[in-house]
Amino acid sequence: MSSDKITLSMSRSILEINTSAIRNNVKALFNYSQKKIIAVVKADGYGISALHLCKAMEEIPEVDTYAVACLEEGVELRKAGFKKKILVLGGVLNGEAKHLLEYNLTPVVSHEEHLKALSGVGVKFHVKYDTGMGRLGFLDGIIQDERIEGVMSHLSSPLDEDFSRYQIERFKQILKHYPKLPYVHLESSAGVVYRVPFTTHIRVGLALHGEPPSSNYQIPLERVYTLKAQIISIKELPPNHPVSYSRTYVTKEKKRVGVVAFGYADGLMKSLSNIGHLYYKDTPVRILGNITMDMTMLDFDQVDAKVGDYVEIIGKHQSFTQLAKLADTIPYELMCNLSKRIKRVMV
Ligand SMILES: *Cc1c(COP(=O)(O)O)cnc(C)c1O
Repeated sequence: MSSDKITLSMSRSILEINTSAIRNNVKALFNYSQKKIIAVVKADGYGISALHLCKAMEEIPEVDTYAVACLEEGVELRKAGFKKKILVLGGVLNGEAKHLLEYNLTPVVSHEEHLKALSGVGVKFHVKYDTGMGRLGFLDGIIQDERIEGVMSHLSSPLDEDFSRYQIERFKQILKHYPKLPYVHLESSAGVVYRVPFTTHIRVGLALHGEPPSSNYQIPLERVYTLKAQIISIKELPPNHPVSYSRTYVTKEKKRVGVVAFGYADGLMKSLSNIGHLYYKDTPVRILGNITMDMTMLDFDQVDAKVGDYVEIIGKHQSFTQLAKLADTIPYELMCNLSKRIKRVMV
């Protein structure tokens, strides 16, 4: 059976992408900042699917540009037919210049070597300055080149107001060396709250996904995702019966134990074993024992779930941010771990 004959109802796990929620999040970010948006869709759209996200954003006028990490990600978007400007954040490697031209991609220059790789090539680019991130960007020495279309920097600690104000000030000093440019950008999702007066665009990822980057985020965001997986077995285990590898959970009484087709290979971190909850309808169901590669066991004592029903991993009861916190990580990492075998659908 070819995989395109596998229908949605046969999918073991489904990620529903609410396109109107994405649109509303774009509008909320635009309304708050009054700046157009560089939508960061690197790493396959934070693991969600860059193609689906760009499809949702291609007709939204407030989204001006997509940003990706590397040439290959930009080429994938062009081959899929997306027309907006595409910024390649991760520098220019030797030999990449002709492909940047061919696919109409706009590189970010952060090092002398990137400039060398672009020598003699008629491609517009953005220059990045390091004002306190300690990653990419020129520290000092102003780059002047008539191909420069934009200047950018990146906040290392956007939740730290003092340090962010210091970076904003350093960026302002750098900009004194440039004439008015069409692209000046600094603020990521958490940084949008600084409303930097001299930037032209905001460069956001996480907030588009409806995940607020701080607990007191002032911009109203809508949940975008429902991630659900099918129950593939339910059985009653007797008292004193182990559940999963290494027997980290053992039943005390008899217990109805469900198996859901979603494991750490799908993105549910093993560190959530015996800790996290998934949801059956509106009821939280506890994860029992170790999460395995393709399956996770759940406590179904309190629910009348049947084989073939879905449980919710992410949705109205639980965000990526909340689940990531339980796993002692950040929503970015949790999202980037979502596997290819999860069926993505736009709703
Ligand atoms: C990933 C990234 C962003 C987006 O950050 P969010 O916190 O997701 O908004 C912006 N700028 C750069 C340089 C990035 O690497």
